[in-house]
Amino acid sequence: MNHQEGRHHEGRHQKGQHQEGKPLGKTTPKGTTPKGSPTPGRKTARKDNTKRDDLATNPLAQDKISVFKNNISEILNKGFSCVDRGEFFDANSVFMQAIAQLVNFDKNAYMTFAQEILFTVRYAQASHFLYEMQRLKNEKLYRQMALIAKYVGDLTLQPQHQLINMRIAIRINFQVGNFYTAARFINLISLPEKEQYSEILKAAEEKDYKDLCVLKDAPDYIVLCYLTMRVIHGSSYSKCSFCAATFRAQSLSNCIFCKSVLELKARNL
Ligand SMILES: [Zn+2]
Repeated sequence: MNHQEGRHHEGRHQKGQHQEGKPLGKTTPKGTTPKGSPTPGRKTARKDNTKRDDLATNPLAQDKISVFKNNISEILNKGFSCVDRGEFFDANSVFMQAIAQLVNFDKNAYMTFAQEILFTVRYAQASHFLYEMQRLKNEKLYRQMALIAKYVGDLTLQPQHQLINMRIAIRINFQVGNFYTAARFINLISLPEKEQYSEILKAAEEKDYKDLCVLKDAPDYIVLCYLTMRVIHGSSYSKCSFCAATFRAQSLSNCIFCKSVLELKARNL
């Protein structure tokens, strides 16, 4: 299998490096604001408003936040460098380090840095998934690899990073015969990059846009455990209210990425 995109990370993320001193939220793509408040934030919503007013009018507090954000930006740049080198395990460790600092800034961190936390969580998830895909590739487990590639391709990252991940998702899913998924990602790509996939789109059309390589044990409505990278079976699962990561029901009490409390969800089977 010619799965080369993972190495294409090398040297292609320079533009994506976080600029020092630039507010992290400014680079966060639209639509990444979490739905609803994070669980820790809900409990202190009234106090949060007061705190935010203080931060807005207090120069010392603003200086503190500015220095803190610069520090986080430096950590993120280390993470991006690891991704550039295809060192996804190390990248994940670095992004998790940034998340730990963000969520532990103070008791209102999930409100104050909601965008920054979610932005970093998406990169932690992407590196986590890409590392698992490297392992699956070594074991020639391409169907599982294609499944995880779907999740990687759907993660909202900075556009240039997301494009690379969508290319990965297109190639691996096309190679295993998942024509619907390959075509879906191609149609999410804007011109002129989309043009290079005209042959794949044509092949997908000839196959009636069907996914031929759906995992045997996967139900139509697939929920992935973000910890084990396995399909979740059973009638319930846990979901993070902040970053939407899913886990096998009751296997954890807190999200492994953003540390928010997990909620038990019923599945529509
Ligand atoms: Zn989470």
